[in-house]
Amino acid sequence: MAKKKFPLFNRIALIGVGLIGSSLARAIKKHELSRELAVATRRRSTLAVARKLKLGDSYHLKAAQAVKAADLVILCAPLGANAELAKQIGPNLKTGAIVSDVGSSKVSVIKDVTPHLPEGVILIPAHPIAGTENSGPEAGFDTLFEKRWCVLTPSEEAALPAVNKIKRFWQALGSRVEIMDPKQHDQVLAITSHLPHLIAYTLVDTATELERDLKKDVIRFSAGGFRDFTRIAASDPTMWRDVFLSNREAVLDILGRFTEDLTALQRAIRRGDGNLLHNRFTRTRKIRREVIDAKQAGTEPWRRGK
Ligand code: NAP
Repeated sequence: MAKKKFPLFNRIALIGVGLIGSSLARAIKKHELSRELAVATRRRSTLAVARKLKLGDSYHLKAAQAVKAADLVILCAPLGANAELAKQIGPNLKTGAIVSDVGSSKVSVIKDVTPHLPEGVILIPAHPIAGTENSGPEAGFDTLFEKRWCVLTPSEEAALPAVNKIKRFWQALGSRVEIMDPKQHDQVLAITSHLPHLIAYTLVDTATELERDLKKDVIRFSAGGFRDFTRIAASDPTMWRDVFLSNREAVLDILGRFTEDLTALQRAIRRGDGNLLHNRFTRTRKIRREVIDAKQAGTEPWRRGK
C-alpha cells in the first residue's frame, strides 16, 4: 500500500497571487504541502484569473478572511503593501501561526509587519532568490524555486521548530535554504540584484532620450548587450519602486561606491590609461568564473536570481 503523505501544513494562506504567489500556489499543490490553500488578492479581476487557473481551494478579496485558521500565511504582495496587510490580518491570525513573506528586502519587512502581529504568532521572513521580469498570476510556474536559494531571516527569538518548518517547506519546493542576518541580506542583495536593476533602468531610460534616428539603430543593434538590459528594465515598476524605497540605506551605500568606481573608469578612458582598464576587466573576469563555479550561471540567464 502506498505510504500516505502528511502535508506540512493544514491551511496555507497566500496574500498576493502574482508571479511569486502563483508560483508558490502551483508548487504547494504539486508537492502537496498543505491540506487547504487559500489565496487572496486585492483586485476582483486578478482573483478571477486565480480562480480560472485553479490556484487555490478558496478565493478571497479580503486578506483578513483568507488567514482565518491558517497555520502559515505568506505575504506575496509588493513590499510597500506589507504594513497595511499585516494590520488587516493581525486580529484574525491564530495562535501558533507562522507569518512569512517573499519580499526582496528584509529589514523593512520586519519593521513593517512585527508591530501588527499578536502574541503567539511567529514571523519568519523569507526571500526566494528566484524570479523573472514577468508579473501577475499567469506568469507563475511550479518549478520557479527549484535549485534556487531561499534566504530566511528569523530573529534570534524565533522558535526553532517554526524556523525548521519553514526551512523544510522551501526545501520541499526544491530550494536551497540559507539563514542570514536581515541587514546582511539587504546589503548582499543591494549589489547582486538591486543595483543591477537600477543600472538597467537608467541605461534603457538614457536610450529613450536619444534622438529618433540614433534610438532606432540602438534598438536594431541591441544584441550587443543592450538587449539584456531591456529585459531587466521591463521588470514590474511597482515592485521595483518598493524595493528601492524599502532597501534605501543599503542601495545608497552601494550606489556611492559604484559611482566612485565608475568615475575612476571615466577618468582612465579620458586619460587613455589602458593599463587601469585592462587590470579592472581582468579582475572582473575572475568573478564570472566564481559565479559559474557557484552554479549561479551557465545554462540559465543570470537574471533569474533576484
Ligand atoms: P506581482 O506579480 O506584481 O503580483 C503582486 C500581487 O500582489 C498581486 O496579486 C497584486 O494584486 C497584489 N498587490 C499589489 N499591490 C497590493 C496592495 N497594495 N495590497 C494588496 N495586494 C497587492 O508581484 P511579484 O513579482 O509576485 O512580487 C511579489 C513580491 O515578491 C514582492 O515583494 C517582491 O519583492 C518579491 N519577489 C519578487 C521576485 C520577482 O522576480 N518578481 C523575486 C523574488 C521576490 P492585484 O493584482 O489584485 O492588485
